[in-house]
Amino acid sequence: MTDLTTSADYIALERRYAARNYSPLDVVIARGEGAFVWDVEGRRYLDALAGYSALNFGHGHPRLVAAAQRQLHTLTLTSRAFHSDQLGPFARDLAALTGKDLVLPMNSGAEAVETSLKVARRWGRRVKGLPEDWGTIIVMAGNFHGRTTTIVSFSTDKVARDDYGPYTPGFVVVPYGDIEALRAAVSDETIAVLLEPIQGEGGVVIPPDGFLRDVRALCTERNMLMIADEIQSGLARTGHTFACDHEQVVPDIYVLGKALGGGIVPLSAIAADHAVLDVITPGSHGSTFGGNPFAAAIGREVIAMLQTGEFQQRAAMLGAVLAAELDRLVGHGLAQVRHRGLWAGLDVDPERISGKELCHRMAERGVLAKDTHGSTIRLAPPLVVTEDDVRQLAAAVRDSLAE
Ligand SMILES: *Cc1c(COP(=O)(O)O)cnc(C)c1O
Repeated sequence: MTDLTTSADYIALERRYAARNYSPLDVVIARGEGAFVWDVEGRRYLDALAGYSALNFGHGHPRLVAAAQRQLHTLTLTSRAFHSDQLGPFARDLAALTGKDLVLPMNSGAEAVETSLKVARRWGRRVKGLPEDWGTIIVMAGNFHGRTTTIVSFSTDKVARDDYGPYTPGFVVVPYGDIEALRAAVSDETIAVLLEPIQGEGGVVIPPDGFLRDVRALCTERNMLMIADEIQSGLARTGHTFACDHEQVVPDIYVLGKALGGGIVPLSAIAADHAVLDVITPGSHGSTFGGNPFAAAIGREVIAMLQTGEFQQRAAMLGAVLAAELDRLVGHGLAQVRHRGLWAGLDVDPERISGKELCHRMAERGVLAKDTHGSTIRLAPPLVVTEDDVRQLAAAVRDSLAE
């Protein structure tokens, strides 16, 4: 076997043996600390993607690494055939953070979304009283909820959906942020509305003011569950614990993932009250690794860090700095900027530059970001960045556009 030394060597190896379900930037990361990563040649980059917000607390946060190390040497997996001394405390703390009675832990975000859909369907039958095979769920155009066959069945992204049929029935798509379209789509058969309070993968798309409140009121009025997929928007990214908090809205089901595992392990969960989650009975749902003691110990530390409010405050304060810097670039290479907290979607002027080219130029300036849907770039640096880092990030965008 030949020695692997350069980025090109590792990229060639990945190309040779790993399926091409992504098209990454040509950067091979070997180490991370805080808001920064280093490639195999030792070049340093500001990580402005942060694992799609899974790394809200940065790389290797000392509190999270300590929690992981403690648990790693103690107990990592029991399966749910037995109890563990980590699941109860984790569930209690996540219930407190969400204000809900119960939580159901899983691993990936897509599994948590699937869990919410199964819960909604059972609730439709057993609580709302609909006949077998009834019960539609309304979803939003431009959604991203993961990659399972059911979830891609109601995706409006051709690339994510094409040729994965036959598709799961029972979903109705309405335009995002359009309360009248949503109202018109509701029927006696509707059991739930599933939405992202801010569409992350869609490009940090923020609905009109009052939309979430209107959805909440409509769900209550028509006896439907409001399911908020806060996998990317939640856990301090927007300046609040949940993006729904911006409109003081409490959904019936929170769907959480990404940052819940501290960027160390996949850990997801849904949180809801007894009236909803009691439809789940022994044997009717589960996962071998779901709620395992290793993940639970890390998740509990994540929750403790969120309970101080420090990260929410940082996101709000640093987000204001980022927003002010980015707003000045509209008309200077950017067509539009959307932001909430330390989270921004930039639409580049496609006449000037592609999203991918902008990311290449930013990487040359030591900042990593990723384009989504061609001409949109999402910025979501770890919430541990400094104000200087944020200004460096904005300068990299500015200079890359001006090049
Ligand atoms: C990333 C994401 C998911 C899927 O999570 P995975 O862990 O990749 O399965 C679902 N919903 C939203 C809003 C996401 O951002």
